[in-house]
Amino acid sequence: MDFRLTDDQEALRESVRDFAREVIAPVIAEHYKQHTFPYEVIRQMGKMGLFGLPFGEEHGGMGGDYFALCLALEELARVDSSVAITLEAAVSLGAMPIYRFGTEEQKATWLPKLLSGEALAGFGLTEPGTGSDAAGTQTRAVLDGDEWVINGSKAFITNSGTDITAMVTVTAVTGTNPDGSKELSTIIVPTGTPGFTVAPGYSKVGWTASDTHELTFDDCRVPAANLLGARGRGFAQFLRILDEGRIAIAALAVGLAQGCVDESIRYAKERHAFGRPIGANQAIQFKIADMELKAHTARLAYYDAAARMLAGEPFKRQAAIAKLHASTIAVDNAREATQIHGGYGFMNEYPVARFWRDSKILEIGEGTSEVQRMIIARDLGL
Ligand SMILES: Cc1cc2nc3c(=O)[nH]c(=O)nc-3n(C[C@H](O)[C@H](O)[C@H](O)COP(=O)(O)OP(=O)(O)OC[C@H]3O[C@@H](n4cnc5c(N)ncnc54)[C@H](O)[C@@H]3O)c2cc1C
Repeated sequence: MDFRLTDDQEALRESVRDFAREVIAPVIAEHYKQHTFPYEVIRQMGKMGLFGLPFGEEHGGMGGDYFALCLALEELARVDSSVAITLEAAVSLGAMPIYRFGTEEQKATWLPKLLSGEALAGFGLTEPGTGSDAAGTQTRAVLDGDEWVINGSKAFITNSGTDITAMVTVTAVTGTNPDGSKELSTIIVPTGTPGFTVAPGYSKVGWTASDTHELTFDDCRVPAANLLGARGRGFAQFLRILDEGRIAIAALAVGLAQGCVDESIRYAKERHAFGRPIGANQAIQFKIADMELKAHTARLAYYDAAARMLAGEPFKRQAAIAKLHASTIAVDNAREATQIHGGYGFMNEYPVARFWRDSKILEIGEGTSEVQRMIIARDLGL
């Protein structure tokens, strides 16, 4: 067992770290404050190949793997989570379903622009009335000749309304299974399709430089060929996508937790109280030591889940553990980093204030902490 990174992985980590510090850090606070989407940063990330990281070269990808994506997400989130979640959702939720379940025609249509970062895609599972309980999906799609007619709405969909959003994949009820349960399928809806409306962006507590919208489908017609994967496989498909996505969110959470350590060390050395740096007090040192411990153990948890996934082994429980642990410690570290910064930690111009506001959603998105515990318990046979 060796969790040390290869030279290539180390080089990727360093180049993303440099990019985050040199390109994202100087501009992100203003985007965060103005609630604007950082198009220029995203364009440069596309040029670096980040949107194509875990995909094969035959589709315009970089030929890397899912772990490479996780390393990049960790380094981005160490500086900013809005940019990191934009990449995570674009790759793991946007392009990956097409890559895994799409026909050759769908791959040829969508993957080149998604993998280059020229276009973004969203994944619409959550609805205004149901999130954790996907079986509660109300959106319906009815086959009418050679078209699907979609009616319903989706809530909180990341990357669904930017100027470069090309499409969203949505889950919809397409019939009834023999056991009486809902038949769920996944359908591609290109941006601009008549009957597909994107509401104005939400007013969010954090991730304010990322793009999130409610979507409405009102007799929205798309070709029958836009079905993604087999009819009735929608449930199984999004379970697979979310299992993988949990490892990516864990990596993002570890990045935020590590960013809290970085900022706390810097501030503890700079800030003086009672005639010496606050970092000279063991109480502050122990806080930072505990924060480092948490970031380190959460990193090992996501490395383990990713290693199992890449080895083709079962990884559902380990992905849930990684996501649950990393999101919990991200919130812990953000709270402690803010504490170490005193009153300045409550000021928006300090990165730790952003980390604090960005941390809570990690315990909610892509399966709440309660849902992760349900997955772990079920996998333990309970
Ligand atoms: C900024 C942002 C971006 C998002 N991006 C996307 C996206 O791109 N695509 C997408 O599809 N969704 C997205 N989501 C939605 C997100 O995944 C859901 O909010 C999340 O899964 C929780 O669903 P919910 O909000 O409906 O909460 P609910 O399911 O209503 O849960 C409410 C509370 O009840 C708890 N709960 C529910 N059932 C149980 C149970 N059986 N036992 C114990 N506790 C339970 C939950 O854990 C939670 O604490 C995003 C959300 C946000 C805020």
